[in-house]
Amino acid sequence: MIEKNAGGKTRRAQWWHREKNKFRCDLCPHACLISEGGRGRCLVRKGASGELVSENDGKVASIALDPVEKKPLYHWRPGTQILSLGTVGCNLDCPFCQNWQLARFSKDIVLKDIDPDEVVFLARREGVGSVAFTYNEPTVWYEFVYRTSARLKEKGLAAVLVTNGYITKEPWADLLLLLSAANIDLKGFSEATYVRLGGKLEPVLGRIAEALEAGVHVELTHLVVPGINDNEKEFRAMVTWIAEISTSIPLHISRYFPSRKWMNPPTSLELLERYEEIAREKLNYVYLGNVEKEAITHCPRCKSTVLKRRGYLTENQGVDEEGRCSFCHTPLGIVMK
Ligand code: SF4
Repeated sequence: MIEKNAGGKTRRAQWWHREKNKFRCDLCPHACLISEGGRGRCLVRKGASGELVSENDGKVASIALDPVEKKPLYHWRPGTQILSLGTVGCNLDCPFCQNWQLARFSKDIVLKDIDPDEVVFLARREGVGSVAFTYNEPTVWYEFVYRTSARLKEKGLAAVLVTNGYITKEPWADLLLLLSAANIDLKGFSEATYVRLGGKLEPVLGRIAEALEAGVHVELTHLVVPGINDNEKEFRAMVTWIAEISTSIPLHISRYFPSRKWMNPPTSLELLERYEEIAREKLNYVYLGNVEKEAITHCPRCKSTVLKRRGYLTENQGVDEEGRCSFCHTPLGIVMK
């Protein structure tokens, strides 16, 4: 059953301006020009009663307690649980989307009302110190994510975003002030690849760099999709770009499985391992995702094993409370609390 706008409430959107009798959305680089009654490409911002409104404001489609490693975040409060919630809508249109029912607002998705205080209440009831906005693209849930992140911060809880990074600079800068960590998708490293996904590369690179500059803990995910981005030259260029910003950003190279409109076979393990090898030439922390394999973090200096993960179980073998290697005291950029 569809309950778009359960309770009939919508909230005035932030980040838009009027152009004659239309509304120009300024939230993401698409800059949709929306007529009264029309919607943007994300499906959740609508022209209504003379203004732009956020239709998914305060509407949750999915809420669960997850290991933080599932986001994936491997260097941020390892071994902890995180309250995770998402709604509907997305501003990209990846043919292989692994969560397309939420992204494209499938008819069988039921939305429930939620407010920031309830999120705080649930996090405390579950005894967790952090909340992730995830499952769909959280930047198209901007108003709710912003309000809730502000409330979480006020209450001493951490806000985390799992995002495609496809947002304009100003709203991103505001949101970064409230975030503790983010996993950002880097879906490819050419404009041609991003065009196939309905977006552009440059804004995503800008948002990654800005998140790091703002002091937010950042990890990157790259889903390798055969027929879309399995181009070694492009992958090498991506790794070089990441290394130029920082060799210590964790990179999760993830296995794709057929989904939505993309039915090519899953990414081969050989290709993933090849990419892992390439990335390790320049980056200190490279992990494979969606594979049954131990994920080990080594100290880049003394090479000791410091963290070991099997599935979502994490074993601390050598990280001290300050996120340094217990053997040689090298700072590892691992946030422990
Ligand atoms: S957030 Fe939605 S409505 Fe706004 S520009 Fe992006 S796709 Fe268009």
